[in-house]
Amino acid sequence: MTTRRSFLAGLGAAGGVLSLPGLARAIQETSSPYRRPKLKITDVRTAQVMAHGHQVHVRIYTDQGLIGQGEATDAAVGTPPLMQGPLKRLLVGQDPLNVDNLFERLRTQGIFAGAQAGQYVTALTGIEIALWDLAGKALGLPVYQLLGGKMRDKIRVYCDSQTEDPDDPQAKEKLGGIRDMGFTAVKIDVDERDDPNRWDAVNWTASNAEIDKMIRKIAFVREFFPKRVDLAVDMHGRYDMTTGKRVAKEAEAFKLLFLEEPVPPENVDAMRDIRESTSTPICCGENLYLRHGFRELLEKRAADIIMPDIQKCGGLLESRKIADMAHTYYVPFAPHCVVSPIGTMASAHVCAAVPNFLVLEWHWIQRLPLWKSFVKEGEIIEKGWITVSDRPGLGVEMNEEGARRAQIKGTPWFEPTA
Ligand code: MG
Repeated sequence: MTTRRSFLAGLGAAGGVLSLPGLARAIQETSSPYRRPKLKITDVRTAQVMAHGHQVHVRIYTDQGLIGQGEATDAAVGTPPLMQGPLKRLLVGQDPLNVDNLFERLRTQGIFAGAQAGQYVTALTGIEIALWDLAGKALGLPVYQLLGGKMRDKIRVYCDSQTEDPDDPQAKEKLGGIRDMGFTAVKIDVDERDDPNRWDAVNWTASNAEIDKMIRKIAFVREFFPKRVDLAVDMHGRYDMTTGKRVAKEAEAFKLLFLEEPVPPENVDAMRDIRESTSTPICCGENLYLRHGFRELLEKRAADIIMPDIQKCGGLLESRKIADMAHTYYVPFAPHCVVSPIGTMASAHVCAAVPNFLVLEWHWIQRLPLWKSFVKEGEIIEKGWITVSDRPGLGVEMNEEGARRAQIKGTPWFEPTA
């Protein structure tokens, strides 16, 4: 009778190949052996820059000499004492490769200290991104690989133009510059604090003249670019619901990529009412935090598109989780992004890994020399696209000399603190 053992032995003898234990050994030898690096966190340090607002760069140091870097923004003012205080106290001595475990512990230890949103979550975000960079470097893998792998090699980027005024004699020249850079999507701002047509300095109910001006701006930029270039419009969450509905309605003819934050972010029902009133796609979420902040928005179908800010909403894996939640509602993911090439490349890794990615923001056209000199890799956007780095970690490295030109005076530059 032929047993399994004798079959394999026969196979080995007949073919000159190996027996089962030999085969297993051969497979093990040609595969990567399991060599999980043993690292311990030793320090957390920060640097602060003023670029598109206040940005905090954070570095996590280890006993093996490996360093991870991250970036936090928008709600980053005041985060260095959090990063170097309660967050560092928990991190020192820990294994940095348990990223999600550390994230959860840091977050839940702060439940009574504001860990639901704002500065606490933004501080945690910078740390989380630095941990992923560290994990990638330790394992020799790009971060997208650790987030589940790549859906796409290139990330489509839109340019926040900050040029929309038809009465600006240089507007066409500036828009021409954006067109020549090859962007396939552009965003403009239509909210105007100092519009002489405003009747009241506090109330944001737009007058007819204000709304007419907003529509003129949209028409002007829409007409400038060819149809294949998408146009998005931001209202910065300043207006009331009546204004939001009117602008969304009047903008319908322009087939916008999206209208962003027509009303403030706190009242999800108001956002839903606007969405239901118009065919203009409504996008929001840059002022929401964690998965928990997006749950109600998605459940109430209040947004056509979501735009978490990956450098403040919780970081790379948290953004992936938010994108996945949105995907179950068939809602695309178009992250807000105003950070340096370090944070932008970090965002690109998430955008590469999620199925429902739409487009990523870029907001540094007014500071191109700083943008191009911030990392050693130089310009990372080519014709409106970012090629996701295949190098270990985030894949970009700060060029200290270039970045330091934006250092906030009197703040430490990755110097150790007590
Ligand atoms: Mg915005």
